[in-house]
Amino acid sequence: MVTKSPDSSLPEITVSRRGAARLKSGHIWVYRSDIESADGISPGSVVAVSDPKGRFLGTALFSSSSQIALRLLAPGRVDNFPELLRNRIRQAKAYRKLVVSHTDAYRLVFSEGDFLPGLIVDCYNDLVSIQILTQAMDSQSARQAMISELTAEVAPAAIVERVDPRVRRLVQLPPRHSGLLLGTKTGTIFSMNGVQFHYSALEGQKTGAFLDQRENYAAAEQYAHGEALDVFCYQGGFALHLSRRCSRVTGVDSSRPALETADQNAALNRRQIEWIEADAFALLKDYAAMGQQYDTVILDPPAFAKSRRSLEAALRGYKELNLRALKMLRPGGILVTCSCSYHVSQSDFLEMISSAAVDIRKSLRILEARGQARDHPVMLGIPETSYLKAVVCHVSNLK
Ligand code: SAH
Repeated sequence: MVTKSPDSSLPEITVSRRGAARLKSGHIWVYRSDIESADGISPGSVVAVSDPKGRFLGTALFSSSSQIALRLLAPGRVDNFPELLRNRIRQAKAYRKLVVSHTDAYRLVFSEGDFLPGLIVDCYNDLVSIQILTQAMDSQSARQAMISELTAEVAPAAIVERVDPRVRRLVQLPPRHSGLLLGTKTGTIFSMNGVQFHYSALEGQKTGAFLDQRENYAAAEQYAHGEALDVFCYQGGFALHLSRRCSRVTGVDSSRPALETADQNAALNRRQIEWIEADAFALLKDYAAMGQQYDTVILDPPAFAKSRRSLEAALRGYKELNLRALKMLRPGGILVTCSCSYHVSQSDFLEMISSAAVDIRKSLRILEARGQARDHPVMLGIPETSYLKAVVCHVSNLK
């Protein structure tokens, strides 16, 4: 039943005891099966949430399409969502001042990690790229508020919206094209840890670069040496960092456009890197069989486990890659192995690496067990905000 709460104009939704318990434990999601009824509530509404006894639990964003029906915005009442959006963008910027350094490319807003569920904002030097993932964030008033606040906070040359048509279909939003929301500039150069990269706002995967790996690039560089292989190199994030310490660097990816940008990035930084367009599984199989040897190997594959059900198959895929990489590493070598699948936990991942090491009779020391860069904050109480694993190992042979 839809009722109006007495002291606000927000529509109300009652959640089940399980939904209420989830919110009280610090999570901010309530699943569709845990809301009593949302009849008559418009998609993307800001709603007041109550438990079955009628006690107010907070203000949330409602989705009519997602399995996650409610995303809590605040434990109090929110009467002016655009104003809250502006404040939270300012807070997100202040947090970045604390955690972002040695770069002009960073994630400024990380959805739930910045109390702005459904909004991602990335900055690349003077360009800003936004992604809208929920009905509530797609409203005209929300869009206007974010554009004007981002303009005030970072004064970009342009703001671009990156649209994932699949996401819009899933959340039942009308189709939209990626494009400029402000200004006309769509290309720039940004830097991370002193390495420069080309950025083209309307091309590339994700919103451009894998900013979540930025701190891991620097960590990998610290231990890298000798001959290095960067597998799943995309536009060369790891390879370019390694090239400052290694005698030879090879990058492998199946995407030609990614490798073309990688090559331009190498030229921009005056580095010699060999790029190979290939299927990484097939190439590693061949290289391992041929007895190719490296001192440093990076493995940063795309997410293999898109759901809990595919976990087993994903772990087999990770193990195959890691086995081959370990086989190719010389004694004293460095393996940097990553997984960006949320469904693969850090302990699953470490267990997989350990079992690969046992199979191939090598001994691994964990130098660093890392996660996503701190501008992609992990919220305690919201496990879904933690997805990236990046483990740096020192590899020795067991004789
Ligand atoms: N390490 C990169 C990010 C890697 S993202 C960085 O830090 O920027 C995963 C990459 O894997 C993508 O570039 C994608 O093109 C590539 N990829 C996906 N499947 C592949 C396959 N079978 N063989 C080689 N590359 C693949």
